[in-house]
Amino acid sequence: MSSATVTAQATATTPLPFEDFRTRPTEELEQVIREVKARQADSLMILGHHYQQDEVIAFADLRGDSYKLAQMAAQNRSCRSIVFCGVHFMAETADILTSSEVDVVLPDMAAGCSMADMADLDSVEAAWADLGEVIDTEQILPVTYINSAANLKAFCGRHGGIVCTSSNARAVLDWSFQRRQRVLFFPDQHLGRNTARSMGIPLDQMPIWDPRLPMGGNTEDAVEKSRVILWRGHCSVHQMFRTEHVTQFRKKYPGIQVLVHPECTMQVVDAADLAGSTEFILKTVQQAPAGSKWAIGTELHLVNRLAKEHPDQEVHFLSPMVCMCATMYRIDVPHLAWSLANLDRGTPVNIVRVPDETKSWARVALDRMLEVS
Ligand code: SF4
Repeated sequence: MSSATVTAQATATTPLPFEDFRTRPTEELEQVIREVKARQADSLMILGHHYQQDEVIAFADLRGDSYKLAQMAAQNRSCRSIVFCGVHFMAETADILTSSEVDVVLPDMAAGCSMADMADLDSVEAAWADLGEVIDTEQILPVTYINSAANLKAFCGRHGGIVCTSSNARAVLDWSFQRRQRVLFFPDQHLGRNTARSMGIPLDQMPIWDPRLPMGGNTEDAVEKSRVILWRGHCSVHQMFRTEHVTQFRKKYPGIQVLVHPECTMQVVDAADLAGSTEFILKTVQQAPAGSKWAIGTELHLVNRLAKEHPDQEVHFLSPMVCMCATMYRIDVPHLAWSLANLDRGTPVNIVRVPDETKSWARVALDRMLEVS
């Protein structure tokens, strides 16, 4: 019997420490993962985000972007455990969308999202109060990008608001403007700006809200004129792409098409041929004819995987710098094996559980999004 099998079958009441897994050979860790998957069968679902490293995504039962993974979690009827190979807000979203009998595990609790951390409940409540000094907050609809903490989704649920992803941001803004005249959009200014601009909203009606400044750094006049108030947040990965990169690629590879994610700056989106969500990027390349040439502005692991999966096309990464999601990268084979082995022996670790009150209001905002989409 292999030592991997011994580990998986042992019974105990205290979790196996991560130290036992950190230095074990990769083949042994992969064996643990395969054995637990086989034993748990349908009661376990491993979800993998597209930005995940290849070694980890290889074990995912289902892959997707934030929106698709949220849908998959919501549709789940059979499994009792979801191991989420993504980042913390995604695991929270899965917990909100599944029944209380389902445990959602994040293999490394340090896998957060730097963008999600740029907005917290206290700052958003303070902004709401400040805005209320100038305009009636009944006129404002709060929209949170799915890349946000559960308590911000709950804030939106309580205030008639909604969640969006990069796949449905346009539909969500349409829905919002059918109900109220303004939107407070957080935490990603770029997704908010790129989407609102594609709807014809002028930039001077999109003030930036800097939570460190009184009235977000705006005059009362700017707030009164606003249609979309953009939170000062961004993705540290996507904001590394620059218009110079687009120019360089076009010069070096005539006929190349530039395809970027809407978390990139407005200038990069304007310079690109196409912009869309992660699933849009995937589909665009999958459906392109052989010989197509792409420079893609999104997370490095996904672009490298697309290049590998489409050898008949030329797929380049739109930056000379390494733009990978460092927090997503924390989910590695040792953490996956460790969390699965503990789940299997009845000593689960890293269960993500959203408090009931937060969960029910966040669910309201997420259900609105799922209905709109
Ligand atoms: S790529 Fe950016 S927005 Fe996405 S999880 Fe990583 S830090 Fe967050």
